Amino acid sequence: MTITAVADVALAAFTAAEGPTEVATPDDRETGCARCGRVTAVMIPVGRVISRRFTGFESWTNLAGRQLCEVCVWVYRHRPLRTEAHIVTRTPVTLTPAGPQQLRQVLSTVVDADTAVLVPLRPGRKHVLPDARWGKVTVDDTALSWTAADAVRLQVVRRLRAHGFSETMLRDDSPAYSVLSRVVADQWPQVFDDWNHLTPWHHAGPWFDVGLRASR
Ligand SMILES: [Zn+2]
Repeated sequence: MTITAVADVALAAFTAAEGPTEVATPDDRETGCARCGRVTAVMIPVGRVISRRFTGFESWTNLAGRQLCEVCVWVYRHRPLRTEAHIVTRTPVTLTPAGPQQLRQVLSTVVDADTAVLVPLRPGRKHVLPDARWGKVTVDDTALSWTAADAVRLQVVRRLRAHGFSETMLRDDSPAYSVLSRVVADQWPQVFDDWNHLTPWHHAGPWFDVGLRASR
């Protein structure tokens, strides 16, 4: 059986970057890829791909396997995936590095079921793509839903930053007077209203971190 590129985010990203490849389900688990369970023409022993300090086994579906397929090898070796945000789509398959501007664009609305957003919050530390799912924003340890309310909160963060509030200030429960005092008084109600809109993010660190990244 041949697997199509839309099956999962890792395969779609690989196809967009490297071109289509033959991916199939093996007859027995031991010959399958340790992470995804599938086979490709080239298979590489696990120990040649991951280091002894590797900890991401929770996304591995086939611990009977001793090798990784060429898709999963690429997932672990393609360094930009660990250092930069990326957007993956499945119809058509695309993989796009995402700076703040591209992040803002994709997060300005609900992340749809044909899109996956990858945001390594501590660049270089974690592999994000193995855990990525369609319709989610995947950060170091979690896949986040990005709702219409989150899109609005991102707008709010941008508005407050335009007033001069720093990222550190935005994490406080109330606006810093040093900045507020420079805002014309008739805009204060809007500032306080905006600040209240951020309350859910004050209790949801990863969403806030992604929002801050996209507002830079
Ligand atoms: Zn694999």
